Amino acid sequence: MTPADIHGLSTDLAHQGVRGVHIGWVDNNGIVRSRIVPIGELEAAAHRGVGVTAAFAVFDSHDGITFAHEGLSTPSGDVRVVPVIDDPADVVRLAGQPHLAWTNARQLSADGDPWPYCQRAVLELQVDRAAAAGLELRAGFEVEVVVAKEGDDFVPAHRGPAYGPNALRDVDEFVARLLHDLAANGIEIGQLHAEYGESQVELALAAEDPLALADTQVLTRQTIHSAARAEGLRVSFAPLTTTAGAGNGWHLHTSMSRDGRNILPGEGPHGLSDEGRGYLGGLLRELPAIVAVTAPSTGSLLRRRPGYWAGAYGFWGVENREAALRLVPNSRLLGPERTNVELKACDASANPYLALAMVLGAGLAGIAEAADLPEPVQEDVGTWEEERRASAGIAALATTHEEARAHLVGSDLAREVLGEQLLGAFVACRDADAAWAAEHSVEEIVESHRWRY
Ligand code: GLU
Ligand code: MG
Repeated sequence: MTPADIHGLSTDLAHQGVRGVHIGWVDNNGIVRSRIVPIGELEAAAHRGVGVTAAFAVFDSHDGITFAHEGLSTPSGDVRVVPVIDDPADVVRLAGQPHLAWTNARQLSADGDPWPYCQRAVLELQVDRAAAAGLELRAGFEVEVVVAKEGDDFVPAHRGPAYGPNALRDVDEFVARLLHDLAANGIEIGQLHAEYGESQVELALAAEDPLALADTQVLTRQTIHSAARAEGLRVSFAPLTTTAGAGNGWHLHTSMSRDGRNILPGEGPHGLSDEGRGYLGGLLRELPAIVAVTAPSTGSLLRRRPGYWAGAYGFWGVENREAALRLVPNSRLLGPERTNVELKACDASANPYLALAMVLGAGLAGIAEAADLPEPVQEDVGTWEEERRASAGIAALATTHEEARAHLVGSDLAREVLGEQLLGAFVACRDADAAWAAEHSVEEIVESHRWRY
């Protein structure tokens, strides 16, 4: 949009009562950060951004700053967070906070050049690579969230049963407000239900292109937090909110399109095309590095337990919910465009831009190289003897920082997709979190993240 268009837009918003605009971005812990500018400053902010410390790239999940990454080892350095406003709809007046609007930002150097630590730019690059190959990712998140009564202690807001309408009756006003606010904020969902975990709710975001989806996911967080607060509730997206029971997964569903048509389905085994096999094979072979980005936190590692449908083992299956990669095939009822792959090992501590970039990068390489795909496994491999898993080539995904770190730093894909500098900062954040965790109990780790997501 031209400066004049943005000026007109901000004048309209001001007339509607909008006083300020959040310029939001997501750090390497999946934590959303923002600056508010007065509405009259939006035009200037769209041009030159707002200055923030470069240290946001090395904030850990407890707001500690690690100086262990060579490129950002001092308190010096300023970057610009610049709202991405290509269309009037990119500035969203928040239904739950109508005095404010929301924009998503990219981060640029002080001179306005690309900044190697900008997570959105990492995804933009993969989207461009896909476009150059004539391909487009389509993606949607399932958002699991624990709803609690307002207050510091965790007091469940609904009492189940899982999937029960009566459970949602306990939080009826929240649900009503949420459905209203999501629609008003332009967020499309497929469905909402009382999830399996204690006081858990889930909603499924409609599929979009990756940049739109990541932006939507960030806005969704703010929308849910606001709707909860307005009803005397508090929500947590943390991978684990208590040490017992199911965690919050933000499962990521993806498919790949060419000319608007899903290329995953085909005449091959399991209803896959050759490119579909390559795509899934690409994700499978890179899974250890992918999940180090899509479920990266100390809480993610604790959430990764067999039997919780959270993707504890690196294998794929057709509609197998215990598999880290679940193929959702076409069906006669659902039609010929439905095929997608669900990544279970993904949660809210992932930066959505980086998560999507890793999946897209792995999928593109898998298609280009016609990556191998083993036979699917339809069982719960967590019930197998270790020997049987080993002979089937199935390994547990990382549950310790050391394992996850090794997968990340040893991955050519991670280096290529994230870039050397961002990878270094990302690993430094994980190291800082691990050092914190080493001094604390599992309960303390879980508690420390509960109200940060
Ligand atoms: N709550 C589970 C998780 O941590 C997922 C349950 C489901 O499959 O919806 O990922
Ligand atoms: Mg679920």
